[in-house]
Parts: sequence; C-alpha cells; structure tokens
Amino acid sequence: MAILPILEAPHPILSKIAKPVREDQFGPELVSFIDNMVDTMYDAPGVGLAAPQVGRSEQILVADPGNDEGKAQRKLYKIVNPVILEHSKETISYEESCLSVPAFYLMTKRYKRIHLQWKDGLGNTHTEWFEEFPAIVLQHEMDHLKGITLLDRSSRFKKSRYLSRKRKRRK
Ligand code: ZN
Repeated sequence: MAILPILEAPHPILSKIAKPVREDQFGPELVSFIDNMVDTMYDAPGVGLAAPQVGRSEQILVADPGNDEGKAQRKLYKIVNPVILEHSKETISYEESCLSVPAFYLMTKRYKRIHLQWKDGLGNTHTEWFEEFPAIVLQHEMDHLKGITLLDRSSRFKKSRYLSRKRKRRK
C-alpha cells in the first residue's frame, strides 16, 4: 500500500494527452500501481483518480462513485484504456470538483449515460453501462486522460482568477 502525491493544476503532466497502456505492460506491476491509485483515492478522499494526477501520463483511472456518501452503491472500478462505445444524447449537469484543483467547483455538462469498454490490469476486457453520478465521475476522469481539467472547462476569467489566487497563496 502506498499513498502517491497528487499533482495540482497547473502542472504540465495534467495538460498532456495520456498514452494508452501497451499490451506488454499488463501484469503485476500495473496491478500494484493501480492498487496504489486506489489507496490514494480513498486517502484523499475522492470518488475518482486518473493516473496523470499522480504523475503517470497513461490511460489508467480508478473510481468508486459510491465513496461520496449516498450517491450510489459502492463499487470500485479499476480502468485501463477506456473507450466510450455509446452515449445518450441526454446530458446532465453537476457541480464537479477535482483533487487536482482544490477548492474549485464548476457546473459541468456530461452525457447522462455512457457505455464504457475498458481493460483491467491483467488485460481482460470489460464493458458496462453507467448512468447519472457514476457516468459523471468516469467522464471527469477520462477528461484527465485527454489533458483536460475542470479549469480548462471553465471560463478564461474563472480560470485566471483561480490561478492568480493560487500563486498568491504560495507566496
Ligand atoms: Zn479531477
């Protein structure tokens, strides 16, 4: 078990497009890295965490949408190379937050339902439909794999105000 340091925006890794995990990378090393991500997510605490947030620019994320009490039944997902196969036209808006953008909240529009395909740490393929809060969490984490944080989804004004406040806090 290891708790990994979580990077905060602005950090160049958070803006990079994450690489897909290669066939030859599946196995025990990947599984133990993913388990460290799980420990880090629960320690934060958070409902989801993507690998770029802990400094590894690869398409890996973990999520337990039920970790936010009352939101859904608890179920832990360990996801590698996710692909949205289908999604609803219908969207849903929710005030999202992010472990890499502390004290920042943004109403964000997402698909209400997504049909996701992914691999686990050993390379087995899974598919499942997600809706409502779990679908929101997964789309948020998949944004991280594209190098997008909540700051990039907000207005230029809100983003620059956040970053300048953050710079002042550091001084
Ligand atoms: Zn996030």
